Amino acid sequence: MKYLDRLKKIVTGFLPGQDKSAVKNEAAFASSVSGLPNVVVLATGGTIAGRQIDGGARYQAGELSVEALLGAVPAVRGMANITSEQVASIGSQDMDETLWFELARRVNELLARKDVDGVIITHGTDTLEETAWFLDLVVSSDKPVVLVGAMRPASAVGADGPANLFDAVVVATSPDSAARGVLVAMNGNVFEARDVTKVSTTAVQAFAAPNFGPLGQLHDGRVFYWRSSGRAAQRKASFALAGLESLPLVGIVYGHADAPLLPVTALVDAQYRGIVYAGVGNGNIHSKVLDALAAAARQGVVVVRSSRVAAGSTMRDVELDDTRHGFVAAGTLNPQKARVLLQLALTRTQNAGEIQQLFDYS
Ligand code: ASP
Repeated sequence: MKYLDRLKKIVTGFLPGQDKSAVKNEAAFASSVSGLPNVVVLATGGTIAGRQIDGGARYQAGELSVEALLGAVPAVRGMANITSEQVASIGSQDMDETLWFELARRVNELLARKDVDGVIITHGTDTLEETAWFLDLVVSSDKPVVLVGAMRPASAVGADGPANLFDAVVVATSPDSAARGVLVAMNGNVFEARDVTKVSTTAVQAFAAPNFGPLGQLHDGRVFYWRSSGRAAQRKASFALAGLESLPLVGIVYGHADAPLLPVTALVDAQYRGIVYAGVGNGNIHSKVLDALAAAARQGVVVVRSSRVAAGSTMRDVELDDTRHGFVAAGTLNPQKARVLLQLALTRTQNAGEIQQLFDYS
């Protein structure tokens, strides 16, 4: 290997011209240390694998390989036998359902194996909450699945990726993490997939669980859970992807003062099967738009009311007559999470009453 190529591989983990999306290592724990848990890291890109351009605020997400990320936290090698797979190298603004399906199938496949104890997914922070929630609804294992990202690129001063990745390994290897659903480790906190959301575009403390708070915190290489994720344990909404190639079309329409009809009619004309309305306040809808959404519901489009407000529940039949209009109320699911659940729900039923049940018990 030429010196410059070798240097580039050391810095980025990739050879020049190598297709970053195609680098995959089969999970095998051949040289494993017995007694340590076996963890597979699936990498998808994001700022955690980002590299600055010109040393400033500009950077390119998904530049470093998973080996390079793990190389920055050598301590994890003493905590678990770790293998890794480069599933993708994207900014998570480009996340899509094809990759969701690939991730979900791989996670289910890995966790079904006796020699895999947990999975970590490195991910961009922009859509991390949606991937976490999607996986939460389709992964059928009690073993830990932990998503992790970073707000500062790997090459930045004070990069948060290595500490977050270290914490993700702590969470994935803790027996206390079992049966809590898909988890997110960020900035010293561990969150459940259902409630976690990105609340800052720039701060290192970018994630919060606005309704119920974090499940626990990390200190000095240990995770301390303060509460159980009751929902994950009692959940009735879980889905199998077998036989599915894609998800039904569901759009989100954002509510605001003087809201126009156009986004709703455009989605109906484009034959979307569901619309999530990110309403004002308790999921409220301008009366003009309400008529259009009610007409859509009569035509068989499933309309879910959520809210653009960061916390609280969008409650059924409070200011709006959901029962009369045939709407579904999203409860504490934010619009982007409501969209994911509605897509999966529509693979099972088009009935608004049944879908309301799935929302109530998700
Ligand atoms: N745009 C980046 C991403 O979601 C942001 C990040 O990772 O923090 O991949």
